[in-house]
Amino acid sequence: MKTIGVLTSGGDSPGMNAAIRAVVRTSIYNNVRIMGIKQGYNGLINGNIEEMNLSSVADIIHRGGTILRTARCDEFTTEKGLQKALNVIRIFNIDGIIVLGGDGSFKGARKLNEAGVPIIGVPCTIDNDMGYTDYTIGFFTAVETVVDAISKIRDTSSSHGRANIVEVMGRSCGDIALYAGLAGGAESIIVPEENMEVDEVCKRLIQSRNRGKLHSIIALAEGAGNAYEYAKEIEEKTGTETRVTILGHIQRGGTPTAFDRIIASKMGHKAVELLLKGDAGKALGIKENQVIDLDIDEALSSKGFFDKEMYDIAKILSI
Ligand code: ATP
Repeated sequence: MKTIGVLTSGGDSPGMNAAIRAVVRTSIYNNVRIMGIKQGYNGLINGNIEEMNLSSVADIIHRGGTILRTARCDEFTTEKGLQKALNVIRIFNIDGIIVLGGDGSFKGARKLNEAGVPIIGVPCTIDNDMGYTDYTIGFFTAVETVVDAISKIRDTSSSHGRANIVEVMGRSCGDIALYAGLAGGAESIIVPEENMEVDEVCKRLIQSRNRGKLHSIIALAEGAGNAYEYAKEIEEKTGTETRVTILGHIQRGGTPTAFDRIIASKMGHKAVELLLKGDAGKALGIKENQVIDLDIDEALSSKGFFDKEMYDIAKILSI
């Protein structure tokens, strides 16, 4: 393997830059040429590709976002788009590609692999919705951002004696709500994986109000229902003014936590090592603090894991 390409695709996540740095430096350490493919699969289709060197990745380990930029590329999902990408891969003499992204990006990577281009996938998404790995790169940074926001909302919520629904990202995965809800001391955590009736949320709010608590935080995963409808019903049933805060894209930015930088560095390094030893069609992940690799098909078909035990603990601790 003489030339490796690296791209970031789908939604960005803090830690992508640390992973790019690891890929670039490990490639150069092994005397392999490393090409940065810009804006996800768009760069493969348009040939927006540049050789990288040691200084291309200087001073980025602490930066959120991705220096390669990212995009969603519909054209790549078509046969014509795939053929264009394969042509560009040939022109640039790229022998293998490391794809940093989520589920969708891995599906694109699998197509390249099936077409004969060796690929390795590195899981980067704040959602933590890839069931085969304990954690995805960016997840813990997003959790920190939400916990910080909850602390601030709690201050004003106490002053006014209000309830506050904090809607967080995660699509159909409730992990950000669960982890940030537990760490932020939320009274209720509403996630798509578990059924929590509004009456139960109201009961918890009334109980805590009766023992003198001035605020109430409800962590709501975006995939678990409409925040404004919840707020209306809670306000009607409890008589407590209930506000909604939708955190949105601030969860995708910011300086990555040390943990995200570490797993990004380890997996970026491992991705290059696997390609160099002739492995292909693999996804990397973290299990019990170790980097694991498995077939990308297996990774894509793995069922989501929801930590029910943690959810139950959070419920007990917020009575
Ligand atoms: P995130 O979890 O942050 O949204 P993601 O990687 O799942 O990240 P998607 O928008 O689902 O984000 O996918 C990113 C890109 O991957 C798509 O824009 C497309 O270019 C490519 N892609 C997704 N699905 C496929 C597919 N079935 N075949 C080929 N390419 C795909």
